[in-house]
Amino acid sequence: MRLTVEDVHLGYNGRIAVDGVSFAVEPGEMVAIVGPNGSGKSTLLRGMSRLQKPSTGRVLLNGTDIREMSARQVARNLAILTQSPDAGSDLTVRELVFRGRYPHQGILQRVTRADIEAVEWAMHAADTAQFASRPLGSLSGGERQRAWIALALAQQPRVLLLDEPTSFLDISHQVEVMHLLRRLNHQGMTVVAVHHDLVLAARFSDRVIAMRAGRIEFDGPPLKVFEPAGLERVFGVPMMILTDPETGLPIPLPRPDPLLCPVAHTEPAEASRTGRLSGG
Ligand code: ADP
Repeated sequence: MRLTVEDVHLGYNGRIAVDGVSFAVEPGEMVAIVGPNGSGKSTLLRGMSRLQKPSTGRVLLNGTDIREMSARQVARNLAILTQSPDAGSDLTVRELVFRGRYPHQGILQRVTRADIEAVEWAMHAADTAQFASRPLGSLSGGERQRAWIALALAQQPRVLLLDEPTSFLDISHQVEVMHLLRRLNHQGMTVVAVHHDLVLAARFSDRVIAMRAGRIEFDGPPLKVFEPAGLERVFGVPMMILTDPETGLPIPLPRPDPLLCPVAHTEPAEASRTGRLSGG
């Protein structure tokens, strides 16, 4: 399913947050949107679903303007996980995840075998099955985040939009979520996610779109677009790029400030023990 963003402007009370953005996401792509706080990433993502209406411009799903589709029609094809989604804290994980089935249910909202299977699959995929019966209010931030991911998966969308899906997660769950998204992507799901972590963005995306002040600063494969000058323009700090010895992919990092970052000195005793210092 092709998602096209055509000269989209979005704002709040007359203040522009996304200032004329255009790009197309091809079926099966895995795209990261990066950029500093306030650069318009979340607003853009909301505009790509039906959550926020562009003041001008259009968003198309396979050539049809999503404003000309019903909310239900859009939801059968596209799911969005926003940054701080809200639901009653008494709701259990399973009840939450069942909500993902609404767009697929008929008027009577009778639960079918397909609904139950989709919910169980989604909870299992997002590693939430073990706390399926617990209320959301009793979960840790990371557990709650995974419950919301399960909700989006239960929708069985062809396009999945996520706003910082790895925030609140410890490193093992970050990797787990990224592996899950990559697996879903390999099975044909188009994934567009806002990321703060540039290393994860580089490792798990086919393409990175960098936003600055409501506009796209660069757009391309991480190996091509992650270079110090472009990243410095976007983030406003000196940057450097290391190369992952295992994948050859870029590892973007802020350059260390020599006055503030300790330099690793090898102690003479340690050096002689490890054989790195010859003679006294
Ligand atoms: P990012 O996701 O890159 O941090 P946002 O899309 O959240 O950026 O914000 C872009 C701009 O829109 C910022 O200037 C922000 O203050 C403003 N903004 C975001 N949400 C709202 C809102 N609900 N009401 C008013 N202004 C908002």
